[in-house]
Amino acid sequence: MAEWTDWLPLAAFWLLLFLLAAAETLYPLHRAPREGKGRLVANFGLGVINAALLSAAPVAAVAAAQWAQQQGVGLLNTMALPFAATAAATLLVRSFAAYAMHRISHSWPWLWRLHRVHHSDTAVDLSTSFRNHPFELTFALAWRAAVTVAFGLDPLTLVAYEAAAAAFALWDHANLRLPARLDQALRLVLVTPAMHHVHHSAARAETDSNYGDVISLWDRLFGTYRQLGEAEVRAARFGLGDAEDEGAASLVAQLRSPLARGGAVRPVRASEA
Ligand SMILES: [Zn+2]
Repeated sequence: MAEWTDWLPLAAFWLLLFLLAAAETLYPLHRAPREGKGRLVANFGLGVINAALLSAAPVAAVAAAQWAQQQGVGLLNTMALPFAATAAATLLVRSFAAYAMHRISHSWPWLWRLHRVHHSDTAVDLSTSFRNHPFELTFALAWRAAVTVAFGLDPLTLVAYEAAAAAFALWDHANLRLPARLDQALRLVLVTPAMHHVHHSAARAETDSNYGDVISLWDRLFGTYRQLGEAEVRAARFGLGDAEDEGAASLVAQLRSPLARGGAVRPVRASEA
């Protein structure tokens, strides 16, 4: 019999989803395109497949961290650091690993084939959080497990980080308009919806910016931070542009997308050529 506490993370996730959905309706950042309704089937369809995948490999990174700790494998497990230092190092390494993988996904053609499914959404809202190709999720789980073992990341700190990352995946994509001052203060440290929505713009220079998922540090440090005014974010065109947007609302087309001809090529819009 499962303890009621086993259901707590799932209940917290659904509560956050519900609260953000209500906030999105009340304070939208931009208006969703009229033709965009069909995309929800593709987004939630991918979400269901990914949820099945995740239930088969629950918190793989945490399991990898526990294994590495028991075996005494990985950099941090070979050093006798105080817990605070191990926890801080775990947060930095795990968060940088996500930033690095995201940046590489935009420049390595075979990873872009997987990642572009997330970017081909013609609108951005909560449902976009679920829109990832299952192969990309599989690759991400393997990448996180490898980094975790190599660095001997602390399991307890990882549990906290993975929970925060799941919450931020929803928050970053929410079509939510924050008061300008709050947005400005938060993005000094954290990623805000208006910051991440720039990353979903169809303009290449904007797509290739704001890679961070939880903290804004890495974008600021490596020069990929980009700030647009609220009016510009509201007027942005989302997706990848013209030909790439065909099939954006089709679950089958998105699942087959990594194998599509020309899938590795980044579109260059006429205005940017
Ligand atoms: Zn991206």
